[in-house]
Amino acid sequence: MKHLINTKDLSIDEVISLFKRAKELKNSTTDQNRLKDKLIITIFFENSTRTRSSFEIAAKRLSANVVSLDVSKSSAKKGETLFDTAANLDAMEPNAIVVRHKNAGVPKILSNYVNCPILNGGDGAHAHPTQALLDLFTIKEHFKDVRGKKIAIVGDIKNSRVANSNIELLTRFGLEVILVSPIHFMPKLNNFKKTHNIKEIIDEVDIIMSLRTQTERHKNLIYASLKDYANDFCITKDLIKNRDILILHPGPVHRNIDIDDEVLRDPRCKVLQQVKNGVFVRMAILEYLINQNGKNSK
Ligand code: ASP
Repeated sequence: MKHLINTKDLSIDEVISLFKRAKELKNSTTDQNRLKDKLIITIFFENSTRTRSSFEIAAKRLSANVVSLDVSKSSAKKGETLFDTAANLDAMEPNAIVVRHKNAGVPKILSNYVNCPILNGGDGAHAHPTQALLDLFTIKEHFKDVRGKKIAIVGDIKNSRVANSNIELLTRFGLEVILVSPIHFMPKLNNFKKTHNIKEIIDEVDIIMSLRTQTERHKNLIYASLKDYANDFCITKDLIKNRDILILHPGPVHRNIDIDDEVLRDPRCKVLQQVKNGVFVRMAILEYLINQNGKNSK
């Protein structure tokens, strides 16, 4: 059974063919029914705006049936373990389950208890594979050949599952990743150029991926205020000037903290393009995992 727990679950060839399919889906004007009569369950134990709706829209655009478990009303609140919840959902024979959880590792553990693909919609600070896929898709759409391009990942890298998944995937596709963050948010990773001063690298990068400060994952208050953080790391027009540069952010954006209003309106900022592409990339991955596992099952 093939699952999508982190980006390493997909080979380069698999990613390339998923992107080919996502592009086809994006350019298609006809209805898609490749997942007709399939059942997809989404369970989000942590808040989500984009990822959950993107998966559900992707599933519906492929004519699948979608059941979203309302976690606040589910039996998890009555003391049922996660694994019993999973076993019960599995008994209803879904064709895929999309799960988000505040604890790293939950999707992987669940994958041992069910008979359908598990898609990780984000687990703690560990991984967010579909976000990295849609980010790479958006970068490729712009540059075509991404090998050798330089990307600065800026912000709370240490606590970001988006950063983790992107670092793995983008380096595998030949991009050079530069880590830019205050000292407290810098991960202990070797082999990467690192700086605490974004101005030092602004002239050499092709792409900036700004990240939200993951306050919900901090044990103690790290910055006195997000405003202090913004003074050093906010992406402003004054910083990017007229450079030919792509600005990305996985959302939700802390306006004027991560990226300022003016840059958010700038055509070089692809935040909404990322959201749009996310639906097509998720359509491609749902179709791939469900149909491939269908082929392989007894
Ligand atoms: N939406 C992304 C995530 O779920 C990024 C964020 O929340 O900052 O990880």
